[in-house]
Amino acid sequence: MNIRSDTALTFDDVLLVPKRSTVASRQAVNTRTLFSRRIELKIPIASSNMDTVTESPMAIAMARLGGIGVIHRFMTVERQASEVRRVKHAGSFIMDHPYSVSGDSTVRQAREEMEKHGVGGLMVLGKREELIGVVSTRDVMFEESESRPISEVMTTREKLVTVGAGTSLDDARSLLHTHRLEKLPVVDHNGRLLGLITAQDVMKVEHLTEATRDARGQLCVAAAIGVKDSDLDRAEACVKAGADALVVDIAHGHSDLAITMVRTLKQKYPQVDVVGGNVATAEGVGDLVEAGADAIKVGVGSGSICITRVVTGFGVPQLTAVADCARAGHDLNVPIIADGGIRTSGDLTKAIAAGASTVMIGSMLAGTDESPGATVVRDGRRVKVVRGMASLTANIDRKEIEQGREVDPEDWEKVVPEGVEAVVPFRGPAKEIVHQLVGGLRSGLSYAGATTIQELWQNAEFIRITSAGKRESGVHDVTQTF
Ligand code: 5GP
Repeated sequence: MNIRSDTALTFDDVLLVPKRSTVASRQAVNTRTLFSRRIELKIPIASSNMDTVTESPMAIAMARLGGIGVIHRFMTVERQASEVRRVKHAGSFIMDHPYSVSGDSTVRQAREEMEKHGVGGLMVLGKREELIGVVSTRDVMFEESESRPISEVMTTREKLVTVGAGTSLDDARSLLHTHRLEKLPVVDHNGRLLGLITAQDVMKVEHLTEATRDARGQLCVAAAIGVKDSDLDRAEACVKAGADALVVDIAHGHSDLAITMVRTLKQKYPQVDVVGGNVATAEGVGDLVEAGADAIKVGVGSGSICITRVVTGFGVPQLTAVADCARAGHDLNVPIIADGGIRTSGDLTKAIAAGASTVMIGSMLAGTDESPGATVVRDGRRVKVVRGMASLTANIDRKEIEQGREVDPEDWEKVVPEGVEAVVPFRGPAKEIVHQLVGGLRSGLSYAGATTIQELWQNAEFIRITSAGKRESGVHDVTQTF
């Protein structure tokens, strides 16, 4: 037995000491950061892999705002893969199934198809689905013979500019501009049609300058994976669907089960970033990084809906956990994700100042439009449900999904929950919450005399406060009206 003599701290135990600042405006600071070794974010926020927080609508919103969402795993493999796919397709500048006609169609059929779908052009395909040309409204507009084959009026393959599957947004934009094109078909090495890039879609995607995108311009998304052997099928399906990162989801991440899963996933999918966790110590960080993790999620018992510390007696107050883990993470060049316990932009700033690269947020986002589930009215107020993934109901639901049948009520007693179910106020679009969080962080950076998160790490000086200091920090001795 060993009792450590140092005191562990959390967000309310400290404040950041203001530093001389050269920052003239909040807009002059840059919140760019890393989620994992290879995934860069414009804002340091990830939404939690919880079934009341992140499915495709939240992940799309987060990626569009410059953060990232982690799709939870409490659903069938097929459904999780399809949620991942929805995110990948939402912000894409490559259309997957462009409208097409076969090469033996007539001018009349092409006109009808264009009218039916409201488009100005169709891909023309040969017998093996290979691209043989493109027909546009201009080609058929003044054609007098309706029965003429479109192969005689279309722009033929030799005259088309096409690209391969891995084309980046920059390459597409440059080709569209150089050749003054509106459409750029995407083909494989056998000439088969894979998709279509249009100038309009490229412009739309470029408009979202803050979005978190992969090299192809699609929105980035992560998927949570458990640690059982059967979770390898889940990982395979999510990677195939386009997941940019796999997040190993286990409460005690400093365990052989988690370490083995991280190692296996990294060996199988070297091109995908693997996030390990959750841990609360530098040793935990070291072991997961040694197994190949590209980022480490930190937080044991810090979540708002979490009762791990009460039920098991284990945990480390979050600010100390983040600071200890970040020291190890920085030495090993691996980003730290501070997971759980964020209630305000001040908490977020403190977590980042303590060395985290990104924070993960659950219940603050659970009340938004984009979280799963509908709003309900309680005591005259609109609320949404949030639940710990180790809560009683989440445990039962998970078992039912795994078994494909209802759990016997007698088995409910066997569950030892480490989370609770609760409600949070309905808060409208996620973007409004994120705007407040990032606004607070930007201000925080200027108080620290920092223009970047890396400078905040260097300049941050925490000071411990008493309960009197904490009381002084909030609104006091007035009746707040707005
Ligand atoms: P929040 O932002 O709501 O304070 O914390 C969210 C985090 O709590 C999640 O990202 C996850 O790490 C953690 N969490 C979610 N459900 C449970 C649970 O049932 N038990 C525990 N111990 N942690 C949970």
